[in-house]
Amino acid sequence: MGYVLRLSEQNGYSTPWSLCQFAGLKQNEFRTTGMPVDKLAAVANRRPSELEPIAYTPPPGRPRWACLLGHPIVPIEMSVMPRRFCPECVAERGFVEAHWHLRLMAACPIHLRVGASICPNCGQPLRWFRPGLLECDCGGSLLDRLPPSISETDASLFAAIRIKVLGFAADGENPAHLPLNHLMALNLRSMLAVIRALGRFRLNANGNTATIDELQTVLAATEVLRQWPTNFIKLMSDLGQDAQKNLSGGVSKQFEGIYRALFKNKAVEPREQTDFLKSAFLDFAVNHWGRGFVDHKLMKWASEPTRRRYITQSEFAATLGVQPRTAARLLKERTVTSDRVKCGKAERVIVDASHNVIHKTQPGRILRAREAARQLVLPVPVLSPLRETGEFEVTHLSPVQPGWHEKDVEAFGRKLLALARHDSEAGESITMAAIMRNRHHSPEIKADLVRAMLSKEVPVFGTADGNIGGMQLDFYLYRNWLGDAMRRAAGNARTPAEAAKALHCDRGAIPGLIQLGLLNGTKTPKGLRIDDESVTQFSKKYVSLAFHAKCFGTSTRALMRSCERAGVQMLLVPMMRRAGPQPFVRVADVETILPSAA
Ligand SMILES: [Zn+2]
Ligand SMILES: [Zn+2]
Repeated sequence: MGYVLRLSEQNGYSTPWSLCQFAGLKQNEFRTTGMPVDKLAAVANRRPSELEPIAYTPPPGRPRWACLLGHPIVPIEMSVMPRRFCPECVAERGFVEAHWHLRLMAACPIHLRVGASICPNCGQPLRWFRPGLLECDCGGSLLDRLPPSISETDASLFAAIRIKVLGFAADGENPAHLPLNHLMALNLRSMLAVIRALGRFRLNANGNTATIDELQTVLAATEVLRQWPTNFIKLMSDLGQDAQKNLSGGVSKQFEGIYRALFKNKAVEPREQTDFLKSAFLDFAVNHWGRGFVDHKLMKWASEPTRRRYITQSEFAATLGVQPRTAARLLKERTVTSDRVKCGKAERVIVDASHNVIHKTQPGRILRAREAARQLVLPVPVLSPLRETGEFEVTHLSPVQPGWHEKDVEAFGRKLLALARHDSEAGESITMAAIMRNRHHSPEIKADLVRAMLSKEVPVFGTADGNIGGMQLDFYLYRNWLGDAMRRAAGNARTPAEAAKALHCDRGAIPGLIQLGLLNGTKTPKGLRIDDESVTQFSKKYVSLAFHAKCFGTSTRALMRSCERAGVQMLLVPMMRRAGPQPFVRVADVETILPSAA
């Protein structure tokens, strides 16, 4: 159509309509993609084959489609009369570039402006039956006032569409960090479909439900594709926030909408071209989500065995080579972190493998606790908690095997001895052996002291005899630390009953909350103690449904049903003594489910 207008203008016609009449073209013939090129070629003194490449003649075997510079495309993606174009480009080049026929092409990446669609003089939408490329019916020049400008980043995807249509090579500059090579590898139709899908889901996640135009769609897709794949992962997380009510099934089911739009879309083919989207989707499912299991369907995408962060309990058992029951026990003892997620009607345990490096037993001697303690000059009750909290690293022993691997013990010994600094002048000091012998201090305090040494809070001058027992600690700093530690031990811990009272929940839920890592608990000779700070933190984030049920004179069950209706995700804390799990909801979600709000 741009060519027709140019031909008309150059030959002095006041509208292409006259030219069309002269060529014997009927009105309905040149408004469609099936324009008879030979009639036009005859009046232009050209061979039809010369005009064919810039016509929209359907590709072979697809009579309903059109071609845009050789790219097969569905007619709804293009308009024969471009809705917009760039007047500055026309002023510089003398013709309208073909990509303006695409409906998504809403801005010029060369001049960083929105495409012109109305006349700056008369304010009317531009007609293609006008005197010239840059001249409106009213006589106004389209260069008089240019459309609004956009940023280079916002123009980056428009630039990609343009070079795709024109068949140019990407020039290597990619300041927005789009997955440019992957986008360029897509055929034009798939590229447009992917842009539409990403734009639409980004706008949906933003809560934008108003009529969406092409400019918005492409800008939203640009946002998703920028800094690939960071913002794609962000989009997925945002969709995950919205889709809480559908939190059942595997990840591909939970994100069915975008999954279908990208991977089951007839407009996106061949499927191999979307591998970069699959990798990003898989990355999100495996490493970022954690509220659904990664289905085998998704895992098939991984070209090589992926180390997944979230695995099911049975997969966890298989990695360890143990019975599922043993795996369940390990999870319960919180040797590894896990979480419960809803999966249809059932609940499923998702194990976070990133925190749980699972080791197999290596060759070497397995020591009993007492032997390990003797070697390290640390009493067993001091050593054991250090292993639980990870200061003592178990890297040579499978978690299902009891005992202490000699190589782990040696490694911990080296770690402690490495603390001895020889560069500073020794002041008044006290030895490790003396501290460990002191009966007035509890093993917890002593274990804490080792932690304080490891974090350099209490400095070590050196070692008198080259062994751990002879390690010399700065006496004054040790005494200061000890005073603080005793005060902490006295005041900052709560009993399970006190913690339950503070959280308005059943006492039986406390071990479950510790197991889920939501409260910090320590076993003391007087029983389980819960860190006060963790209670405060948890109460800021979650509330027990039972408590709200009581306040509002309704039942926990009824509130659970409102949660399900409102799509509010519940935290189900496993209870001791086989009772049903105790539900909590996020403080932020309470408003949504209270009876008064319903
Ligand atoms: Zn331009
Ligand atoms: Zn005008």
